[in-house]
Amino acid sequence: MGTHGNLSINSENIFPIIKKWLYSDHDIFFRELISNGCDAITKLKKLEVMGEYQLPDDNKFKIEVIVNDKEKTLTFIDNGIGMTADEVNEYINQIAFSGAEAFLKQYKDKTSEDQIIGHFGLGFYSAFMVADKVTIDTLSFKDGAKAVHWECDGGTEFDMDEGDRTERGTKITLYLNDDSLEFANEYRAKEVIMKYCSFMPTEIYLTNPNAEVQYDTIDPSEVLESDTVIETVVEPEKIEEKENEDGTKETVVITPEMTKTKIVRRPVALNDTTPLWTKHPNDCTEEEYKDFYRSVFHDFKEPLFWIHLNMDYPFNLKGILYFPKINTEYDSIEGTIKLYNNQVFIADNIKEVIPEFLMLLKGVIDCPDLPLNVSRSALQNDGFVKKISDYITKKVADKLSGMCKTEKESYEKYWDDINPFIKFGCLKDDKFCEKMNDYILFKNLDGKYLTLPECLEENKEKHENTVFYVTDEIAQGQYIKMFKDEGMDAVILKHNIDQPFITHLETKNESVKFQRIDADLTDNFKEAEEEASEETKASYDKLTELFKKSLNNDKLEIKVEKLKNEKISSMVTLSEESRRMQDMMKMYGMMGMDPSMFGTNLTLVLNANNDLVKHLMNNVESENASLFCEQLYDLAVLQHEQLNPDAMAKFVERSNKIMMLLV
Ligand code: ADP
Ligand code: MG
Repeated sequence: MGTHGNLSINSENIFPIIKKWLYSDHDIFFRELISNGCDAITKLKKLEVMGEYQLPDDNKFKIEVIVNDKEKTLTFIDNGIGMTADEVNEYINQIAFSGAEAFLKQYKDKTSEDQIIGHFGLGFYSAFMVADKVTIDTLSFKDGAKAVHWECDGGTEFDMDEGDRTERGTKITLYLNDDSLEFANEYRAKEVIMKYCSFMPTEIYLTNPNAEVQYDTIDPSEVLESDTVIETVVEPEKIEEKENEDGTKETVVITPEMTKTKIVRRPVALNDTTPLWTKHPNDCTEEEYKDFYRSVFHDFKEPLFWIHLNMDYPFNLKGILYFPKINTEYDSIEGTIKLYNNQVFIADNIKEVIPEFLMLLKGVIDCPDLPLNVSRSALQNDGFVKKISDYITKKVADKLSGMCKTEKESYEKYWDDINPFIKFGCLKDDKFCEKMNDYILFKNLDGKYLTLPECLEENKEKHENTVFYVTDEIAQGQYIKMFKDEGMDAVILKHNIDQPFITHLETKNESVKFQRIDADLTDNFKEAEEEASEETKASYDKLTELFKKSLNNDKLEIKVEKLKNEKISSMVTLSEESRRMQDMMKMYGMMGMDPSMFGTNLTLVLNANNDLVKHLMNNVESENASLFCEQLYDLAVLQHEQLNPDAMAKFVERSNKIMMLLV
């Protein structure tokens, strides 16, 4: 028969362009060719189910990849549906190529730097990214079908002839170009297959005819008919004389343990054809979930918990999302969500499908309904993709809120680990934030976990709608003590994300206000006010003047108050807004500027009930007055923030001097 034809394409030679554009990801041809083999097998399985084809009894579906570094070839063989000459003509010469053409049309404006390019495949023609010449040898499953041989050298011309394939299925051979010889290396090939094909639904075997043959030594009872036996070592039985306890002797026959058979190593499939996500959640054990996590993410820390997504309507979506254990507060959280289309790996962390904050998790998502055009991996950025993304977000929120409602104990146990993730999610995704609003936990001073409504309930009588918080339990220890003495509560928020998070929560819950424990001294801590006498006022003023002079700071706001706790001498407060502003400035690296520029001055509170302060008030003229002022100020500031190096040095020096006064 013999056909010489022209591939229907306008451009002289499309392949150099394909090569160039897909440069960064040109190993995807493995995925395309192997998945074509899987498709061909799936089609045949369907025909069998429909009663249109009877599989031979010894049929075992598989895909074989043969690397040959001497011949510089790479061969893909499947025992699927095969193709007739007409089909090769239709699917390879016309359709597949038009797919490639469409791809080029659609994406010719994109540069090779564009990340999304990596997500596209070209189906069968991606083989030309690495091969100068490609041949197809195929035999259709159809009764009386004739084998077909097709070849194309990367130009726009092809040759098609009768072939000599005798087994059902398709063999595709790539004659690798000099830049791509790496793919004929067994280990490189294995690596790429593991990357894209780990969970494909048909067993994949990799063979290397040039490799040294490897052997296994096994028990004779384990030899299979299909094994190639090299030799069987049989040790003869031994007869030994044994002495019994009563001194009599006896001969015993010892059957050798060492009868072993040496066989050529049995090929093992590289992939797992039924990954865990394809099973029903009720059929999966905890151990299986953990094993799957380990094998896919190579993370030997156990995941905290997971969500198994499993839905058929309104679209097909299956997957498992794991919440990884974060080691320390400072560990950066970096997840991976692997996206699959019918068990064929598409890419990691595709932002169109996976909501950004979920990329902090580790997981797999398989969505057979993904709208992929031009072969299987061009993602259409349409409303449907957004729906998938929304659905995943909703499921995660449902699981978390459900856990908070029905398994509060485990939820609390995981909270410290998962809260940065949830807070980040709230910042990134309004819908998620709304759903999670009442299921965010706050750890209070007694280590109890409260939801936002519960927090508000706690302080309701004294401070409606205010949630007090602590960012540093040690530095703010004195404030914490004051709060506890007054029977007031605060929550602990010490993670970096907490500041932007509470600001966000305030915008979402209009009446709610978060206030750091040292922001303002509320009336709770002061003695019931009575009108101070003129005399008292005058001595307060004198004290204030003394501090301003000693600290050489005219702008410092100073308040003299009668605090209930007489042990407290001095403390500073800084309004919530000012402090947040200051923190923001720090975050933006504006540290170099004078903070007072932003009007963020501290207020120094002096306790008129404290003996030391009283003493100072009565002895403003004393020679050590200035020393006391400086020391009291530093002690107050220390509870609020770190002293700068200069102030710290002075503080230490002064403390020593004060001790000298005692000796
Ligand atoms: P797609 O797989 O998206 O249809 P491809 O370019 O990968 O696009 O393949 C084009 C067509 O060629 C397939 O749809 C199929 O009909 C046929 N084909 C490719 N490889 C095989 C194969 N190994 N066995 C049978 N048919 C194949
Ligand atoms: Mg394909």
